[in-house]
Amino acid sequence: MRLILLGPPGAGKGTQAQRLVHKHHIVQLSTGEMLRSAVATGTPIGLQAKDIMASGALVPDEIVVGIISDRLDQPDMKNGFILDGFPRTVPQAAALDELLKKKHIKLDAVVELRVNESALLNRVETRVAEMRARGEEVRIDDTPEVLSKRLASYRTLTEPLIHYYSERRKLLTVDGMMTIEHVTREINRILAAIGAVELKAAAPKPAKKLARKPAKAAASKSASPAGKKAAKTAAKPAKAAPKAGKAASKGAKKAKKATAKTGRKVAKKAAKKAVKKVTKRRAKR
Ligand code: ADP
Repeated sequence: MRLILLGPPGAGKGTQAQRLVHKHHIVQLSTGEMLRSAVATGTPIGLQAKDIMASGALVPDEIVVGIISDRLDQPDMKNGFILDGFPRTVPQAAALDELLKKKHIKLDAVVELRVNESALLNRVETRVAEMRARGEEVRIDDTPEVLSKRLASYRTLTEPLIHYYSERRKLLTVDGMMTIEHVTREINRILAAIGAVELKAAAPKPAKKLARKPAKAAASKSASPAGKKAAKTAAKPAKAAPKAGKAASKGAKKAKKATAKTGRKVAKKAAKKAVKKVTKRRAKR
């Protein structure tokens, strides 16, 4: 599984990344962590990044792209990875596309954690208090002043990635205001829906015979092209999933009926109709 986690500082990317790492045995690539460790050990990159990070601004694209490119070549990447904090600008995303293409790696999805900005300062303050209580060193950029700068750079430079990945049909949006446990469950549910992970207890119950098949496979078995296409559409973005899912399953049912009656052609038509419905509903919003 290969994922990107997208969201403002304090959205919970690090927390969710760790949970995904644990569950799916993949590697977390956090550019923030990598840079902090470079600063701590005083490498040339660390020396370059130190003051920039302390001010809440972004480190130049070529530095982080270089770090990620090297890291993707390591053997522990073979099970998959989760990118946390990268890409953070459109040029970084374009560079990542190039890297992945060159290395023949396919990205499964980009999970956006959507949170109310008003909650972020509180979350970061809680994180700082908890770290202090544990006797851990507190990040020097975790102050209200620097946080507001980090937020501003997220808004102007990183937020456009939501559009970038949604255009490329990679974006899945999750409500990051739920409890940590709920957010994890929701992420796993949508990843199962697109077939990126095996269906487990968190996912909706499929038909008995298909219990251990990924969502994509189950859909394609149960309802020909309609189910396949509609399930894919329903899963993105996740926010639209309940409504879209309904329309999709309706479409899938129709398609199944049609297949029995007049074969593939009619099924395809029903599939198209289902997808159109979903798209139309989204366009209205
Ligand atoms: P957060 O997402 O909470 O702001 P991170 O740990 O991801 O924190 O990043 C901390 C700092 O490291 C950023 O403010 C920035 O200076 C630098 N940084 C991390 N990732 C990138 C990136 N992809 N591009 C540029 N700078 C980065």
